Amino acid sequence: MQNKIEDQGSKNAYQNVKDIKLYINGAFVDSKGGSTFENLNPFTNHAINQVSEGREEDIKLAVDAARKAFKQGPWGKMKLEKRMEYINRIAEVIDEEIEEIAYLEALDTGLPISQTKKMTARAAENFRFYARMVQSRLHGEAYAVDDEFINYTIHKPLGVVGLITPWNAPFMLETWKVAPALATGNTVVLKPAELSPLTANKLAEVIDKAGLPEGVFNVVHGFGETAGAALVSHPDVEAISFTGETVTGSVIIKNAADSLKKTSMELGGKSPLIVFDDADFDRALDAAVWGIFSFNGERCTANSRLFLQKGIKEKFVDALKERVSNITIGNPMDSGTQLGPLISKEHAEKVKGYIDIAREEGCEVIQGKVPEEYSKGNFVPPTLLLEAGNEMKSSQEEIFGPVMSVIEFETEEEAIEAANDVKYGLAGYVWTNDIKRGHRVAQSVDAGMLWINAQNVRDLRIPFGGSKASGIGREGGHYAMFEFYTEAKVIHVAIGDHHIPQFGKKK
Ligand code: NAD
Repeated sequence: MQNKIEDQGSKNAYQNVKDIKLYINGAFVDSKGGSTFENLNPFTNHAINQVSEGREEDIKLAVDAARKAFKQGPWGKMKLEKRMEYINRIAEVIDEEIEEIAYLEALDTGLPISQTKKMTARAAENFRFYARMVQSRLHGEAYAVDDEFINYTIHKPLGVVGLITPWNAPFMLETWKVAPALATGNTVVLKPAELSPLTANKLAEVIDKAGLPEGVFNVVHGFGETAGAALVSHPDVEAISFTGETVTGSVIIKNAADSLKKTSMELGGKSPLIVFDDADFDRALDAAVWGIFSFNGERCTANSRLFLQKGIKEKFVDALKERVSNITIGNPMDSGTQLGPLISKEHAEKVKGYIDIAREEGCEVIQGKVPEEYSKGNFVPPTLLLEAGNEMKSSQEEIFGPVMSVIEFETEEEAIEAANDVKYGLAGYVWTNDIKRGHRVAQSVDAGMLWINAQNVRDLRIPFGGSKASGIGREGGHYAMFEFYTEAKVIHVAIGDHHIPQFGKKK
């Protein structure tokens, strides 16, 4: 357990957080090599704690433990109802510790605490959701072909699955993989992002407290090129579910090919939000601002390209400027903070580099102001890139920060063409009061997920994922359950004496 954190608003509260170990075979252990790495607070750039650095030998131990728990241990053979009791118990423990988890997430990532609280609640729901879904939907098909045969399918867990996750919204994204993986009967090795280990460690504590059998869930902290790569190439890992950058995803697919692993890829985005002249102006404005500046702009589905129709452009841009200057930038621990520091100094520099590029490309740059007292944090103010062109580098590449390109268009066709003229295809948003046009545009934009007059609300049964360079496969609902974490097995049964050709039999 973490030490109890008494002073939630204090900048020094991070001093209470203990060092982190790996969680292998039901125990918190040091890495075999004994090395550690420093985990920094994005708000102060002081060290929060030290983290055990797992490498190939630690991955091997974790995979062995997971394999044993699947093959010999109780998990693979457990009755579904019993397994779901464990899954629901995980959700209960998250609920019990929600304040601490939300706090640790804000401390580690710089995300505002009001937002990490909502995501932590959603993480608990991920477990409840999959407990319900697996119980009610994990069934196969059966065909009575004729009087002689029955064919039926069952969905079998894969075995040991490797989950590799990013630093943005880490707890929520980890549970979005762990919940369906465990609920369908797999055992897990999680390699969380090295920049956000606190809540992955907390998830290990939660699962430990929920009493899951040893080896069912394991966490190996460490870096991508060592721990992550070892997980991807381990022959006893049946599948890799990855969320992260497109470039990393492509490296993982190549490395996974040697052992013919199944992979699921949730990758980057550069999503368009298209506002037509006839849209509900105020709601479209709220959605555009929230969609890029919430979660510090470090959000895969962020609307980083805003397309405004000519008739409303000027008024919309004026309103955007006012919003940007009023966004509350500050300490992630303050409940009123709307925008916190970015995950790391390097990432903040990268984002600022893109803003410089946009300036050179001819954009007018409008920014909010970071209060001087926060100069130690990795802050990037909310930024609008006005008069942007869709062909610009700043409009084409994922910046992954609080930066939005604002692009004018005149016709529906023009908006669709520009929206699609990008390598990504994760999400899209269209705002119009013409219902036919809303559907037309939604159907034409190349993206896995489209929202009409809405911002990111969704039912968990719906598939989540992107097309083009934004990913392969879908998470969520039965898509994760049937298509990724289980394998359909077919059983052919003869119930009559069907004809079998008698090769080699003397007449
Ligand atoms: P990243 O690709 O740098 O790292 C993600 C994870 O991969 C980390 O755990 C890292 O250690 C690991 N990794 C790195 N190299 C590896 C290798 N060679 N082998 C195995 N593992 C390796 O991504 P990030 O910077 O942590 O996350 C931000 C990115 O994630 C953005 O591009 C964002 O759009 C994307 N993202 C996508 C979704 C989605 O659902 N599509 C959701 C959230 C984030």
